[in-house]
Amino acid sequence: MAQRPATATVEHKRASFTAALREAGLRLTPQRLAIVQCLAGDETHPTAQEIHDRLQARFPGIAVATVYNTLSALTRIGVCRQLDMEGPARFDPNVATHHHAVCDRCGAVRDVRADSDEPVERTPLPGFRVNRVEKTYRGTCGQCSRDARA
Ligand SMILES: [Zn+2]
Ligand SMILES: [Zn+2]
Repeated sequence: MAQRPATATVEHKRASFTAALREAGLRLTPQRLAIVQCLAGDETHPTAQEIHDRLQARFPGIAVATVYNTLSALTRIGVCRQLDMEGPARFDPNVATHHHAVCDRCGAVRDVRADSDEPVERTPLPGFRVNRVEKTYRGTCGQCSRDARA
């Protein structure tokens, strides 16, 4: 079960995202700040489209491209990550090593904590040095399991 981040952690993340945007030379427009706030506290690995839809009430006319470019800039700086999964790019504010659980039915992607004492795996390829191992668990999420039973 993914853990809810403490409010302090989310605040800290928002501050560091904002600082990162500034360092990257991007102007801190109200739209960009809202995008940062939206991603920092989000554990659902949203797509640019999803963040766009959430912000549309506050910023009518905000472009998906604006959201995507801001998220890409944060990714380049290294404060968030882009997940390589099927479908549109998803963004992850958690840059610590962790695993993911993906629901085959609804596509939900949740964080799974990586144990720091998990054994580092043997090298999978000759000459390949393993820095970290990130797994993807595929299955059916709790909500979809309940829906199936209902
Ligand atoms: Zn599901
Ligand atoms: Zn994640």
